[in-house]
Amino acid sequence: TRNPHATVVEVQNLVYAYSNQEPVLRDISFTLKAGDRVALMGATGSGKSTLLDNLIGLKQPRSGKIWIHGIPVEPKTLPQVRRYIGFGFQDPNDQLFMPTILEDITFGPRNYGVPPAVAIDRARQLLADFGLEAYANRSAHELSGGQRRLACLAAILALEPAILILDEPTNGLDPAWRRYLAQVLLKLPVQVMLIASHELQWLGKVTQRALVLSGGCIQIDSDIQPL
Ligand code: ATP
Ligand code: MG
Repeated sequence: TRNPHATVVEVQNLVYAYSNQEPVLRDISFTLKAGDRVALMGATGSGKSTLLDNLIGLKQPRSGKIWIHGIPVEPKTLPQVRRYIGFGFQDPNDQLFMPTILEDITFGPRNYGVPPAVAIDRARQLLADFGLEAYANRSAHELSGGQRRLACLAAILALEPAILILDEPTNGLDPAWRRYLAQVLLKLPVQVMLIASHELQWLGKVTQRALVLSGGCIQIDSDIQPL
């Protein structure tokens, strides 16, 4: 997977509908290769979160296929597939469920055999300005919205994922934290990054390719010109 042209994520003719409603995703196909930093854009309600949830197997497509590192994403491969992925939910509350932030950060890595001390060290280093010590023994509901976002990001980075998928990671962050997050993401040695956001200027700093979702399809797949 060191080959810069290696396919990391492949989506072919994905269709997804909520229960018996009209499909939200009608026909989605794209390929993410090693080195890709990709913005997922599209209007409110266009299906960005739905697509990301499909990628990590939280939702099952009606038809079509997804491969991560050549492994088809299906219920029986999820433990294997998720090992590669750091996923940030649009709502941090979906991600912080342990009694303390420290346990939230060590929970995922522990599942993969990473000792808590190593995970905490990674989180401290990769998101240094957060100042994890101040929150370590507090629970998520004692934090502000922006602090919860940062705690989630710390937990995701502690996994040192090959593939980073973030759903609206700047939500709740002030301009200074947004700038800091952009710097952190630019330095992060991930294979592939896919970020859904409405912050076009911010996305322009962090990504170099844009997928635009509209009408249930990828309407635009283009390089982003550096600002
Ligand atoms: P936003 O920019 O607001 O985050 P989005 O592009 O992420 O929007 P989704 O959350 O994927 O959009 O929602 C896509 C569509 O699916 C919307 O029309 C939404 O109303 C619908 N939808 C989302 N979740 C459900 C659900 N659990 N049941 C039925 N419909 C849903
Ligand atoms: Mg969304």
